Amino acid sequence: MTIAFEAPLAWFGAGALVREAAVVCDGGRVTYAGPNASRPGADSVAALDGFLMPGVADRHVHIRLSDPGAVLFGGVTAVRDLGWVPEEIFALANASELPSFTGPLVRAAGPMLTAPGGYPTNAAWAPAGLGRELGGPEDAAKAVDELAGIGAAAIKVALNADAGPTPTDEELAAVVEAAHGRELPVTAHVQGRGQAERAVGAGIDEFAHTPWSERLSDDLLSVAARTSRIVSTLDILSFGEVTPELRTACDNLARFRASGGTVVYGTDLGNGSIPPGIHVREALLLHEIVRMTPEEVLVAMTAGPIAAGGPADLVLLGSDPLIRLEALGDVRAVVRSGRVVSG
Ligand SMILES: [Zn+2]
Repeated sequence: MTIAFEAPLAWFGAGALVREAAVVCDGGRVTYAGPNASRPGADSVAALDGFLMPGVADRHVHIRLSDPGAVLFGGVTAVRDLGWVPEEIFALANASELPSFTGPLVRAAGPMLTAPGGYPTNAAWAPAGLGRELGGPEDAAKAVDELAGIGAAAIKVALNADAGPTPTDEELAAVVEAAHGRELPVTAHVQGRGQAERAVGAGIDEFAHTPWSERLSDDLLSVAARTSRIVSTLDILSFGEVTPELRTACDNLARFRASGGTVVYGTDLGNGSIPPGIHVREALLLHEIVRMTPEEVLVAMTAGPIAAGGPADLVLLGSDPLIRLEALGDVRAVVRSGRVVSG
C-alpha cells in the first residue's frame, strides 16, 4: 500500500524548501519526496494543509518518566533514552519498532556507567538499577560488552563530580575503547569542574548536556568540536528563567559552534517540567541565545532529510517555522511509519 501526502509547503532538509510538495510512502519508508506535479501514483492520497517536515528526534529523554503517546502526538517520532533500568528500557525499545506501538521509535543506552556510590545511584529520581557501578577497567569493558549484547544504541557514562565519585581515568579509557570496538558512541553526563576536560581527553563522542559547570576554554572547545557533538538540553538549566548556569552553557555552546562543532536537539524529557512532544522553548533558546538560524535549529531537531529510502516519519505544522520558530508548537498531524497517527 502506497500513500501520497501532499502539502502546499514542505521542508525536506537543509536547503530543500519545496512548494506544492508530495511525499510518497510505502510501508515505513519514503519512496518519493519532491514536487507534487511529478510524483508517482499512489494507492491513496492525503491532502495536508500546512508545513510538512521530518519528524523531530529528541536525543536525550527518559521516556519512562513521560507518556510515549503524548511524545508522538506532539511531533517527536524518535527518541534516544539516555538512562533507564535495562530490563525495562530495552523491552520498550523493541516494542517501539512494532506498528501497534503508540509512541516514538525508542533507542536506548540502558544504565549509566558510574563509580561505586556515584551519580545517579544516589539521585532521588533514579530507580534501582539506573547506575551500573564499575569495578576496574576490566569490569568497565565487560559492562560495555553486556550492554552491546542487549541492544544498547549508545553507552552513557556519568562524570558528575558534584554528586559523588566518578569512574577513574583507566575505567573511562576502557569504556571508550570497548564501545568503539563495538561501534557504539560514548555519551557523557559531565558535571563539575574539570570533568569536560577529562571527557574530551578520554575521547568521548558526545556530551549528553551542554556543559554548564564552568566556562570552558576556547582551546578545549576547539578540540571538542572536532571529536564530539553536544546534545543541547538547555531548558533544564532554568525552565524559562535566566540563570548563571544557562548563561554559561549558552556561551560554551555558541563558542563550540563557532569552532565547527555539531549541536543536536535534546530536552532531557522526564527531568522537571519539560513537556512531552516538541519543546518550543528549547528551539527558541538555540535560536535566540545561541544564534542558530531557524533552519539550523530544524536540522538539529531532525535525524535526517525526507528522502527516498528514509523513514516515513513526518510532522505537519500549521505555519512555517523558518519564518517563526513558534510554529513548532502548532502540530497539526503526525505520520509515523507511513501512517497518520494524529491530526
Ligand atoms: Zn537525562
